[in-house]
Amino acid sequence: MFVLIDMMNLDRVSVDLESEVAWVEGGATLGQTYFAIAESSPLHGFSVGSCPTVGIGGHIAGGGFGLLSRKYGLAADNVVDALLIDAEGHLLNRAAMGDDVFWAIRGVGGGNWGVVYAWKIRLQRVPECVTAFIVSRARSEGRLLDLVNKWQHVAPQLDDGFYLSCFLGASLPEAKAAGITATFKGFYLGTKVEALKILNETFPELEILEAECKEMSCDK
Ligand SMILES: Cc1cc2nc3c(=O)[nH]c(=O)nc-3n(C[C@H](O)[C@H](O)[C@H](O)COP(=O)(O)OP(=O)(O)OC[C@H]3O[C@@H](n4cnc5c(N)ncnc54)[C@H](O)[C@@H]3O)c2cc1C
Repeated sequence: MFVLIDMMNLDRVSVDLESEVAWVEGGATLGQTYFAIAESSPLHGFSVGSCPTVGIGGHIAGGGFGLLSRKYGLAADNVVDALLIDAEGHLLNRAAMGDDVFWAIRGVGGGNWGVVYAWKIRLQRVPECVTAFIVSRARSEGRLLDLVNKWQHVAPQLDDGFYLSCFLGASLPEAKAAGITATFKGFYLGTKVEALKILNETFPELEILEAECKEMSCDK
């Protein structure tokens, strides 16, 4: 026997800035979570995935990697409590479920240990001004491989506040040219000037342009 539970309306996010935590109901999306935190504070964020339509319930249950994870760890690393309803209908918080179950619900995958009614998450302090970019690069095959090879050496060495991923393939959504291209997605916990300086020093081959970087929320 199995049951299907529609979590869609369990989507409230209650932010407590004094304790720098939030309770997020299990049906909230990542977008709703980000929005509620941003509405409460321009100086707080949460280390969670980048796609706004993903549900927080299954996401944290599987770990949850995002733009802040190099610095702050996975979403699951930043869960401080949870309300779990087990198969017998018991409502269990962290203390009641015990260390083993609390460990298991943060990474083993959703739907295994019960229904997470809500997660209590620790918020991260972030600068008000951050920088993001998505750039697509088309080069000859050899030069494209050189670019990706350089990225493999540069990205892990960057400051933990700098996220830089690379997608290599044909017909990538951001590609402006046909054939194989590389898309680089970057996020930096600081200003555009700082981000450009770091990239130009460590990864000049990317040939990043100032116009390709977007500062948020300092340019409101
Ligand atoms: C477009 C897209 C972008 C993504 N981006 C990222 C990313 O940036 N980083 C990353 O780490 N991952 C990313 N993922 C992967 C994503 O984290 C997983 O697919 C995750 O399982 C989605 O959870 P969900 O609740 O939306 O999905 P669902 O399919 O609804 O749930 C996944 C599993 O968790 C269970 N579950 C859901 N809610 C609960 C709950 N409240 N209590 C108990 N069990 C529950 C479900 O029963 C199911 O078994 C992405 C996925 C997509 C589709």
